[in-house]
Amino acid sequence: MAKILLVDDDKIITKLVALSLFKKLGAVCEAAHSFAAGKALADANVLDYDLAIVDYNLPDAREGEMIDYTIARSIPTLVLTASFDSDTRDQVLSKKIVDYVVKRDIKELDYLESVVRRLLNNRTVKGLVVDDSMVYRESMAQLLRNQLLVVFSAENGVEALRVIDQHPDIRIVITDYSMPKMDGLELVTQLRKHYKKDAMAIIIASGLGGASIIPQFLKAGANDYLLKPYSTEEFICRINANLENLQMIQTLKDHAQTDPLTGLYNRRYLFEAGSTLHASAVRSNFRLYAVLIDIDHFKTVNDTYGHEAGDQVIRAIADKLREFFRRKTDIVARFGGEEFCVISSLESEDNLPAFLELVRAGIQGITIPYGHHKITVTVSIGATTPRTGTFEALLKEADDLLYQAKNSGRNRVCIA
Ligand code: GH3
Ligand code: MG
Ligand code: MG
Repeated sequence: MAKILLVDDDKIITKLVALSLFKKLGAVCEAAHSFAAGKALADANVLDYDLAIVDYNLPDAREGEMIDYTIARSIPTLVLTASFDSDTRDQVLSKKIVDYVVKRDIKELDYLESVVRRLLNNRTVKGLVVDDSMVYRESMAQLLRNQLLVVFSAENGVEALRVIDQHPDIRIVITDYSMPKMDGLELVTQLRKHYKKDAMAIIIASGLGGASIIPQFLKAGANDYLLKPYSTEEFICRINANLENLQMIQTLKDHAQTDPLTGLYNRRYLFEAGSTLHASAVRSNFRLYAVLIDIDHFKTVNDTYGHEAGDQVIRAIADKLREFFRRKTDIVARFGGEEFCVISSLESEDNLPAFLELVRAGIQGITIPYGHHKITVTVSIGATTPRTGTFEALLKEADDLLYQAKNSGRNRVCIA
C-alpha cells in the first residue's frame, strides 16, 4: 500500500484527491493544509512516504518552500500549481521534482491520478542510461530517479550489454549515439536481437539529428529519439510516453491471454504456450503431463443457487488449482465453462496419482459461502503422461480419461 503526503490549503481539492487516489489506486493520503502542518507530517513520517503531492503556493509558503522541504528529505515530490506563468514553471522545473500538474479544474484530477499511478508503477521498472559523458549520464540518471525508476548506467555499448546481461528485466534504455567501443546504433542492433520493441523501449539521445541520421536509428529498432540538448520537460514526456506504450501493450497481452472470470490463462493461451512447452519438452527430453478437471453436476449448482453462485464456485476452484500448481512453468487454464486444464512437467510418475488425489480431495474440501448456504462440489479428473505424440493428442487422451472418470461414478481421478 502506498502512502502519500498531500499538502494543499484547498480543503476540497485535498479531499477529492485523497478519495480518488484511495479508490482507484488503494493509496492512502495524509493531508496538511499549510507549510507548518506539512513540515510536521513530513518530519514525523519521513521514511514512510512514497510520494508527496505539494501545492506550490501555500498561505505560509508562497514560493514553493514546501517543495524544497520534501525534496530535501528525499520524498519524491509532485507539484500542484494553480498558476501557470512561465516563471513559475521554470522555477518549479529547476527543482528535482517528479512532475507538475496544473489544477485548473476538476478534470485535471484524472490526470493527477494517472501520473500517480505511473509513478507508483515505476518503482519496479528498471532503466539504463548509456553515455560516455559523465555529465549527461548523471543528469539522465537523476531525471529517471526522479521518476522513481530503478536506474543503472553504463559508459558505452559494450558495458551496457554487460549490465543488461545481469538485469535482463531492464525495460527502458536511453543511449547516446557517439561512444567509444560500441556506439548507440550498434547497441540498438545488438539489443534488438533479443528484446522486441514491446519488451524494451530504446531511446537514442544524441546531438546529431537531421533527416539522414534519425531514420537510421529508427530502422535499427529505436523506439524514439531525443535531440540534445533537450529540456527536462521534454525528457520526462518522452520517457513517460514510452513507458506508457510498454504498459499498454502489456495490458493488452494480459487481456488476450487470461480468462476474465478466474484470472487463469484462457484456452487460446493454453494451446499457444502448451504447444511451445510441449515442443521444448520433446527437444530437451523432459516429460509433461496434462490434467483435465471438470466439475461434477455443475448444472445443478446453477439451477439450485443461480448463475452468480456458479461463478463463485468456478473462481474458488481456480484459486485452489493455483495453490496446487505453483511452479513457474505450470500452465493452469480455464479450458471451457466448468472445465480446467493444467500442463505441468512430470517429476515422478509414481507420485502423480497421490498428488492428483490430493487435488481432488482439496477441491472437495472447499466450502463456498453463498448467502446463508455453504456450497460444496466435487470434480472428476483425467490425467495422462505420454512419452510420444503431439500436444493435441496429449489433451485428447486426458479428455478420454476424464470421460472415463465421469462414467465410472465421478469424483475420482483416472490416469493413463
Ligand atoms: P457433469 O458432471 O457430467 O460434468 O455434469 P455438468 O452439469 O457439470 O455438465 P454440463 O456440461 O451438463 O453442464 C455444465 C454447465 O456449466 C452448463 C453451463 O450453463 C454451466 N456453465 C458454463 N460456463 C459457466 C460459467 O461461466 N458460469 C456459470 N455459472 N455456469 C457456467
Ligand atoms: Mg461438469
Ligand atoms: Mg463440462
